[in-house]
Amino acid sequence: MKVLVINCGSSSLKYQLIDMDTETLLAKGLCERIGIDGKLKHEAAGKDKYISEAPLKDHNDAIKAVLEALVDSEHGVIKDMKEIDAVGHRVAHGGDHFSKSVLITPEVKEYITKYIELAPLHNPANLTGIEVCEKLMPGVPQVAVFDTAFHQTMPEKAYLYAIPYKYYEKYKVRKYGFHGTSHKYVSQECAKMMDVPIENTKIITCHLGNGGSVTAVQGGISIDTSMGFTPLDGIAMGTRSGSIDAAAVLFIMKKENLSIDEMDRILNKESGVYGISGVSSDFRDIEEAENEGNKRAALALETFAYRVAKTIGEYVATMNGVDAIVFTAGLGENSGPTRQLICNYLGYLGIELDSYKNSLRGQAVEITTKQSRVQVYVIPTNEELVIARDTKEIVEAQA
Ligand code: ADP
Repeated sequence: MKVLVINCGSSSLKYQLIDMDTETLLAKGLCERIGIDGKLKHEAAGKDKYISEAPLKDHNDAIKAVLEALVDSEHGVIKDMKEIDAVGHRVAHGGDHFSKSVLITPEVKEYITKYIELAPLHNPANLTGIEVCEKLMPGVPQVAVFDTAFHQTMPEKAYLYAIPYKYYEKYKVRKYGFHGTSHKYVSQECAKMMDVPIENTKIITCHLGNGGSVTAVQGGISIDTSMGFTPLDGIAMGTRSGSIDAAAVLFIMKKENLSIDEMDRILNKESGVYGISGVSSDFRDIEEAENEGNKRAALALETFAYRVAKTIGEYVATMNGVDAIVFTAGLGENSGPTRQLICNYLGYLGIELDSYKNSLRGQAVEITTKQSRVQVYVIPTNEELVIARDTKEIVEAQA
């Protein structure tokens, strides 16, 4: 079975075509600047990289361009669109309705529409991707895989905020959590690497990219996670503040006479390590600035590591122990210095990093010494593969 995985953003679209009989990646790519001018970067196994700058005025154009690239005689990997057996879509928010992936029906689309108010930047784009695929590939089954679904196992005490209960009842204001597909994948891979049934494990997964979240995975299910009602909460991130005293936000708004939208932009786009360092949201730039002696860059990295370590500590308490810690995503997979800074706080767990293994990149590897009481792993995430696996399972179950 060949599954096309689509991750549709407001002006970008990532895709992968995966042969699920062997779990082999056939082609992958990215459409950027949709609605502005348009750029398609397409890579197929064993072929030259292909870049097209043909205009992409909307998502319809983008998905058409993807399908054309996939069937192209030179850089394509299939002869006919009909070889695509199913499409798996990443969907940001499934509210409290979806605890697992589902076949897309008109009712499912209604729910995705309903949850636009919870994910105003992402759900509309996800929905557009679904509708364009339905139009261009009629009759091909489509599956929605939600970023929030894995966290639906959190108990009430973990997801409720201590505010009047009526806001939960009226507006479903509660913690949802995000990056669920990634936390699920790396925790499962970690249990395999530990060679222990996942039911018997306590794992803390740290997805550290531009956005970041930490999750307590006990017995294979999420019992708490650092992102909240929105992806703003939790650890400090590239440009997002992470958790902050709500009164500090109100104070700044009053002092600076800011509107809700202005404050929203500051918290989401001007904060985090970018806000503290004043240098960049990209950890590579901040590490470079630190090496050149920039004090605020060093402070940003230290604050970031401190907050991740503190969150890990919370989840050790929540689970009454931990067997393994996993680092994943752009920063978690690639930055040995960041992992070291975080683990410097975890001596009480008997964690000892192996500095050689911590310097490796791009592979799933345990990075602790033999003596370390808790194992630390780097595991490259693969959200697309999880989406394709779920899609295959759901489509096969329908047959
Ligand atoms: P997104 O949340 O956008 O999916 P990614 O998981 O791709 O993010 O992570 C991107 C971030 O990872 C970059 O902003 C950068 O800060 C960080 N990163 C990637 N490679 C390195 C590296 N070698 N050293 C430090 N940071 C890195």
